[in-house]
Amino acid sequence: MPDFIVDLVELFKEMPTLFIIFSVTFGLMVGSFLNVVIYRLPRMMELEWQRNCAELQGQENQSSATEPTVSPKFNLVVPRSACPSCGHKITALENIPILSFLFLKAKCSGCKAPISIRYPLVELFTGVLIGLVSWKFGYSSAAFAAWIFCFALIALSFIDLDTFLLPDSITLPLLWIGILFNLNGGFTDIHSSIVGAAAGYLSLWSVYWLFKLVTGKEGMGYGDFKLLAAIGAWFGWQLLPAFINRGVNHRHRYDFIGQTWAQCADSVWALFGPWRYCRSVLWATARKIIFRRLSHVCHCINWWYWCW
Ligand SMILES: [Zn+2]
Repeated sequence: MPDFIVDLVELFKEMPTLFIIFSVTFGLMVGSFLNVVIYRLPRMMELEWQRNCAELQGQENQSSATEPTVSPKFNLVVPRSACPSCGHKITALENIPILSFLFLKAKCSGCKAPISIRYPLVELFTGVLIGLVSWKFGYSSAAFAAWIFCFALIALSFIDLDTFLLPDSITLPLLWIGILFNLNGGFTDIHSSIVGAAAGYLSLWSVYWLFKLVTGKEGMGYGDFKLLAAIGAWFGWQLLPAFINRGVNHRHRYDFIGQTWAQCADSVWALFGPWRYCRSVLWATARKIIFRRLSHVCHCINWWYWCW
């Protein structure tokens, strides 16, 4: 490892405040990237589906001689971000998290079209959350794992809000990372993690099929199963009933992120409001992602929970 990285790691271990400042800055920058992911990933998926449909139709129409349609490249990196109303390319200076938004007074520098407040809010939320996670865990592997979890959950929350999609390209890696991180007992033991992944998937999967057999309708998407599997993989099966049960008592300590992330800091629980707030926001968004689409099967889940 290069010397300067070793020095930096030593510095972070000795000065936790420096690590927190670094984390917030890094979180702001990743938040800016998450904005791109939130906007582009669903469109990339749509383009992919269109391409697949076109391919299938092409095969039906002209069996072998299909010419691939050439479309401009569109992924998380290219083309460069541009104003949706005038096409003005966003320069590096206009891309500084939060500051650029304030400096531009929430307007495009080309056409003065308003810029959504959501962009700086996502950046701020990511920065604050990553800072809190680093404050909580200090310089450790748990902190970096929790970063990944937060990034994925923030992206999923907003993509779901916009499109009702939970992309496999986020939920599945999240699941595998959760299992790998728990190999040596990161947030839970490996046994609970693997059982959690399977139980998370199968529980919603069985509710889905039960609901479909009884009513003939689809109550939720397969993305929900995978997200709950990922949550089971990260925090163990023991947390799934609490996670699934909507009517969880607010005063009850047994909540999803609470139980796992804050084991080491129960003493500051009552003292530190912001952390508690962020935790409950994350907890609520995660639950909301899953339950947004299935209010009508919630009774069923509640019944199942109480039987369990
Ligand atoms: Zn513009």
